[in-house]
Amino acid sequence: MRQEVDQREALYNDRPVGPAGVIQVPVERITTLHGFVVDLDPVKLDPDNPLFPPADSPRAFHQAIGRVLARHPLFRDAEVRVSGTGLHLVVHLASAVELKTAADQQRWKAVVRAAQSTLPADPDAPGVTALTRPVGSINSKNGAAVEVIAPGEPVDPSRVVEFVEGLAAAPFRTVATILLGADRFQPCPACRGEGTRLDVLDQFGWCYGGCSKVSLERLFDLVYRPEPRSEKPRAGAGEPRRRASPRRAIAAKPPLRAARSKPRKKPR
Ligand SMILES: [Zn+2]
Repeated sequence: MRQEVDQREALYNDRPVGPAGVIQVPVERITTLHGFVVDLDPVKLDPDNPLFPPADSPRAFHQAIGRVLARHPLFRDAEVRVSGTGLHLVVHLASAVELKTAADQQRWKAVVRAAQSTLPADPDAPGVTALTRPVGSINSKNGAAVEVIAPGEPVDPSRVVEFVEGLAAAPFRTVATILLGADRFQPCPACRGEGTRLDVLDQFGWCYGGCSKVSLERLFDLVYRPEPRSEKPRAGAGEPRRRASPRRAIAAKPPLRAARSKPRKKPR
């Protein structure tokens, strides 16, 4: 059993299983893509956020966010694995994508990153190179066995690309309608002011009677656990792990543009 502790499973190349340090490769060495994973960790989420509420157990967490996931054009079909404390949503591609050139690799890196950025995943997690945990293996953090709680079904790669293209054209609308379940929300979830109303537009939201413009970053800020302010991390103070910075979620934005179907020259 010992060898099954903290094993990882890759969703690329020959889908190797083994220690992360052995099986993880940079994007330049990914030639076949079978799927990708989003790592949802309730610890990173604000306990009071109503949009994507965390819960104490992975199953309760899954139930709490079930309505949001059901609205997601891609992740509603993901296989859901209990990874330990959180959930891995694994999108299995119906046919593997061959990444024959560096451009293919960079394009799918951007596509996967953009898709991942539509859920409040760990902003520090790797993108297309992210690993999942094999079913039945043991997570040493809590001794729990990795299990599947929803089988999902494979997704055609063209659906992933279409979703990301729609996302690039209307990032706020795409994400907000998934999280909020509507294109109009009362009261505005950002300021929660009495009598306010948030209208969902393509690029941002507009709060009538309250806080005016609501960006995608602000929407995610409502979901992520706030980062402690102005406290410098003390070296070796036993801090278990740095919290995800909501600001880092902003870094998920540029790929939305980069993921447009045609590769374009980017000014550097
Ligand atoms: Zn508002």
